[in-house]
Amino acid sequence: MQRPEPEPRSFDRVLSSMCTEPHPDARAAAERFLATNPGDPATYDAVADLEARAVEGLATLADHPSPGDAAGYVTSGGTEANVQAVRSARNRHDGGRGASDGSGGGGRALNVVAPASAHFSFHKAAAVLGVELRTVPLDGDYRADTDAVAAAVDDATALVVGVAGSTEYGRVDPIGELAAIADEAGARFHVDAAWGGFVLPFTDHAWSFDDAPVDTLTIDPHKFGQAPVPAGGLLAREDAALDALAVDTPYLETRSQATLTGTRSGAGVAGAVAAMDALWPDGYREAAERAADNADWLAEGLADRGYDVVEPELPLVAADVPEPEFAALRDAGWKVSRTGAGELRVVCMPHVTRSALRAFLDDLDRIRR
Ligand SMILES: *Cc1c(COP(=O)(O)O)cnc(C)c1O
Repeated sequence: MQRPEPEPRSFDRVLSSMCTEPHPDARAAAERFLATNPGDPATYDAVADLEARAVEGLATLADHPSPGDAAGYVTSGGTEANVQAVRSARNRHDGGRGASDGSGGGGRALNVVAPASAHFSFHKAAAVLGVELRTVPLDGDYRADTDAVAAAVDDATALVVGVAGSTEYGRVDPIGELAAIADEAGARFHVDAAWGGFVLPFTDHAWSFDDAPVDTLTIDPHKFGQAPVPAGGLLAREDAALDALAVDTPYLETRSQATLTGTRSGAGVAGAVAAMDALWPDGYREAAERAADNADWLAEGLADRGYDVVEPELPLVAADVPEPEFAALRDAGWKVSRTGAGELRVVCMPHVTRSALRAFLDDLDRIRR
């Protein structure tokens, strides 16, 4: 019996995903480099050169003081980048005494201090790396409460995390203040801009290497960067952050490797470069502005209908839509999700058009009648 060829989901009604339709150039580049492995750069040298360009491109977006010299690599996603940032900070803490067993040398577990809004990848990082994750409460507008962060750090704090574009509400933490707290505590400072990194350059928010003494930063091409999955990004201000991750690789042509994965996707690397070549800066600016307009429009439409709306800061809208209406929207084919507190959450990614949002509100109106 012939089975029907499976079709990937169309993005038409996908409203809560942080993935999007890749740029056509990125799709083509990914296909060309499908059978390459940047994990073995001496053999797959063309893709290794592309990876250097990807890092330079990402470092340019993130205002690295010298993008051509920035340390970093194309990860499998934001999760790997965040895990590696925690691992690097742990290994470097207290002159390297935090290496390997997670204890700060005195038998006490090292810790990472992050706002409660931090992505769940930090929970994975803590579990894998044997560090304690201290999540601290948010302020009244879903941002890290700096007093709570200051109270949570101590001399076993290896890393303080700030989120620039939180996964649930799209909020940007007070990056400058958090960096100062980290510095005072003798900890490294990491910014998680996995989702926000391709939008933030076109806003006034402080988030980048230029805005604060940021040590490491996560920025994912496969989210707002319109690159195909898998393409995340880890950047570091200094080589030492990546050197702290390197292990010896006896049987490869290159001698050491700082990545978490071994064999990895040349498609992700080539796709990321092609997307940035095509879209930085004007294409990304247009996408960011369109997304912000759409988020404002949707927030207003939901507020007009009497819902409690969390004002969008980046293009992400959360609104208190009751369960029966949420379920009816799902039944109508809308791929929407809820925040931990139960709000409907719409991420205005590049594929989310005004006409899709209009159809979404029309369906909501029908459901409410
Ligand atoms: C999506 C996201 C991640 C995780 O990235 P993956 O690519 O899904 O591994 C981490 N941090 C933030 C803020 C995110 O939005």
